[in-house]
This record gives sequence, structure tokens and C-alpha cells, in this order.
Amino acid sequence: MNDKSVITGKTRIYGIIGYPVTHSLSPVMQNAALQAAAVDGLYVPFAVEPDQLATAVSGLRALQVCGFNVTIPHKTSIMPLLDELAPSAVQAGAVNTVVNQGGRLIGHNTDGDGMIISLAKDLECGIAGSKVVLVGAGGAARGALAAFCRAGVASVIVVNRTLQIADDLANSFRACYPQVKLQVSTLPVQAELALSEVDLLVNATSLGMAGEKIEGLSLALLSGHAKVYDMVYNPTLTPLLSDAKKCGLKAANGIGMLVAQGELAFKLWHGMSPDEGVMQEALSCFYATQQRLDSL
Ligand code: NAP
Repeated sequence: MNDKSVITGKTRIYGIIGYPVTHSLSPVMQNAALQAAAVDGLYVPFAVEPDQLATAVSGLRALQVCGFNVTIPHKTSIMPLLDELAPSAVQAGAVNTVVNQGGRLIGHNTDGDGMIISLAKDLECGIAGSKVVLVGAGGAARGALAAFCRAGVASVIVVNRTLQIADDLANSFRACYPQVKLQVSTLPVQAELALSEVDLLVNATSLGMAGEKIEGLSLALLSGHAKVYDMVYNPTLTPLLSDAKKCGLKAANGIGMLVAQGELAFKLWHGMSPDEGVMQEALSCFYATQQRLDSL
């Protein structure tokens, strides 16, 4: 039984490293799932400043921490510090989950598959053969592009503020997936790109976290059947999602992806899936409590 008030010498430790890490909701989800599965484990946040990453990874290894998530800004920089990278991490060029396998630290990436699961569940979105606009070219966009290519999209237009980064990202996938049409654009989106044919637009930038709009991208250019997915989950209604609603487009935020990537990480660590709905339920309770506190 896992009663977190009783931590014994056998309790296994998991966690998340990031900087900052205070915003992370993974401890809420993972501890709820540990408790529901009666695993004698505890999941804790570790604030790790960028210049302390190597020391922190050595420390986690020495302390025999069983596994940990990796968030901004360490998803790429941690890669050379690990003993092995799973194909999901190699392809995405980023790690969000580390498994300690008998002292060997193995990096995985569950972000991309988490997004695909959420797209199917929250937007009833089939990916094979679809035409996608992916806004952003950072760590999350990398994982997303890898997952889109694996799932058999027809085309992806990568839109990014810095064109060179979008170009590098697209180039790193062209050789492996010659059947996927990959185009790039900076913001504002180039007029000649056929946005009216797009089935799905995904925001993988941090725009929206502080209420920012994505300048230079008009949802009015999409057709009525297009769906909009915002990886940002806090706030739950971003300006992009609000615009999508105004345009009558089906849209969802990144909470489903957060849950799905967490469920996949849990399975990697514990060899079993968490109880269905337990992570989602923990988040819903957390948000409800926050709202009550905010209204006081
Ligand atoms: P990242 O590697 O730092 O990439 C940030 C991206 O945002 C880059 O493409 C960057 O463009 C763009 N950007 C930042 N500020 C901008 C601005 N002012 N104007 C235009 N573009 C701007 O971050 P990440 O790890 O990819 O994360 C991106 C977002 O995804 C975050 O909001 C994160 O919370 C979210 N995310 C959600 C989940 C989930 O489970 N829902 C999982 C992973 C990530 P440049 O290349 O031009 O700098």
C-alpha cells in the first residue's frame, strides 16, 4: 500500500527536473497514480538550474532515483548525460522521461505519442493522410513532428519565428520520411502556403502561456473542417483557442497531452498503465481547488 505519510526504507523515488519546476502538474498526476496503483513510491519536483544539470544527473544516479521526467530547459541538454537513448528520444532529439535500469539511465520521449493519443481522444482526429500546420520548432515541436511522421501524415508546414530553426527541423526529418511533404514558413505565414487545405493546426510554441496571441497567423485562412490543438494547458483557454471557437473550429488544449505523456511515462517506470482516468481526475480536482482558492 502506498500511503505517502508512511515513507519507508523501501519507498522508491521518482521525480521531475526542470527550471523553473514550480508550474509542473506532474507531481499531482503521478502521485495520484502511484497511490491508486498501491505502488510504494513517491514523485517529487527538483528545481535544477541549467548550469547544475550534470551535477544533478550524477546525484540522481548516485541516489538511485528510479526514474524522472525532464522539462524545460533540459529536454535536449540532458541527452549526452544519459547512458542510452530509446528510439523515441533519438527521433525527437529530446528526452522527457528517464528510466533508471539497474544503474543505467535510459532516455525516452513520450510527448509526441501523448499528443497523438490526445488528438484522437479530444478532437477525434485521425492523423494518417492528414495535412498539418505545426507552429513552433522547439523541443515539443520536435517530438510532435516525429510522431506525425510515424503516424503517416501527408504533409506538415512547420511555422516558426526563427526560420532557420524550422528549416533545420524539417531537414532532420526529410531523409527518413521522404513521403511526407515538409514545408517551412516564418511568421507571418507566407501567403502561397495552402492553409485552406489544412486538417489540423497545432501550437507547439510557448505563446499563450502569458495570454499572447500568435501574431501573423490568421485562423480565418483555415477551412471549416480544420481542427486546432494548443499544447499550452495553462491557461486552459488561450487566445488561439478562443479565436478557434470564434471561427467555429473544433479545438482542444494540451491537458489531454499532459495526461497521456504522463501515463506513458508511468508505464515505462512501473511496467503497467495507471488506473484509467486517475491522472485526469487528479488534475481536475487540482484545478477545481485552485479556482476555489482564487475566488476567495
Ligand atoms: P522550447 O523548446 O523553448 O520552444 C519554444 C518555441 O516557441 C520555439 O519554436 C520558439 O520560437 C517559440 N517562441 C517562443 N517565444 C516566442 C515569441 N515571442 N514569438 C514567437 N515564437 C516564440 O519549448 P518547448 O519545450 O518546445 O515547449 C513549447 C510549449 O509546449 C510550452 O508552452 C510547453 O508548456 C508546451 N508543452 C506542452 C506539453 C503538454 O503535455 N501539453 C508537453 C510539452 C510541451 P524560436 O525558435 O523562434 O525561438
